Amino acid sequence: VLLMITVLSGGVGAARLLRALSGVVPPHELTAVINVGDDLVMHGLTICPDLDTITYTLAGINDDVRGWGLAGESWRVLDELRALGGDAWFSLGDKDLATHLYRSQRLARGATKSDVTQELADRLGVSVRLLPVSNDPIATQLHTASRWLSFQEYFVQERHSVVVDDVRYDGLSAARPAPGVLDALREASRIVIAPSNPILSVAPVIGVAGVREILAARRDDVVAISPLIGGAALKGPADRLLRELGHEVSAVGVLSCYEGLVGRYIIDDADASLAESVRAQGVHCDVTTTIMSNPEHAAALARAVVA
Ligand code: GDP
Ligand code: CA
Repeated sequence: VLLMITVLSGGVGAARLLRALSGVVPPHELTAVINVGDDLVMHGLTICPDLDTITYTLAGINDDVRGWGLAGESWRVLDELRALGGDAWFSLGDKDLATHLYRSQRLARGATKSDVTQELADRLGVSVRLLPVSNDPIATQLHTASRWLSFQEYFVQERHSVVVDDVRYDGLSAARPAPGVLDALREASRIVIAPSNPILSVAPVIGVAGVREILAARRDDVVAISPLIGGAALKGPADRLLRELGHEVSAVGVLSCYEGLVGRYIIDDADASLAESVRAQGVHCDVTTTIMSNPEHAAALARAVVA
């Protein structure tokens, strides 16, 4: 019997979970539905950070230490660009650039983001099915002080250290699900919400037409994993964004972003005291180690997700 699993995915947290899951179930039984709200056009190139993080991680060619991009990367093009006075605040490695060149050329010739994602996965030997949530543009924007910042202006240029009082997702309400996305959600025996940023990564996936409705109808088959451990993100701004946007800064606060959509919630040992309050909301709660930097812990978490 196939245990088809579909994972709603941001970047690093999702990539680590998918890598661990592909060690406990056959990779071809796994589908990732991936955020595109971080995508940008830079130097005329279309860059899809979450798609690339997941593809590189599953291909085993990512830089695990730096946490993004490719292992063994060099920066000659970026250095040259900086010397010319070009826009060099968004780091693009020499090898990584090949991905963006490939994608941009294929898009210019009429391919979709879905097509290109599949082509890159095939070339790199990734057999997990990778689906951008939509082929239509979705652009997450963050409001700070007096102006709206694009996702990458916030995340990279401002190093996510400015106070945010509003988030919007340009294009989301009109975005159609990419081919295969709704079927992957309907046909999965289990739907997983990865330990990704609930506001920046998961919300723009759940907001695509049809996704939320399927989760709500199938909530007993939906399991989420908390990206917050002891009230803190392992990296990135998930904790401070929850605070700034008025949510509780804890695993329970993340769950409140998924109200009515989740039947089981996996939280970290450090948050064992929150299990009662999760269960009080009618959601099953499992408590285990959820930090995936250790491969054995990652495998144990993957087994708990599948159990
Ligand atoms: P990004 O797109 O790369 O910024 O990443 P995501 O949206 O996927 O996720 C960022 C979140 O992933 C942060 O809140 C981290 O705490 C969480 N995360 C990263 N690695 C792990 C892990 O090993 N375990 C858990 N539970 N969360 C993680
Ligand atoms: Ca991301």
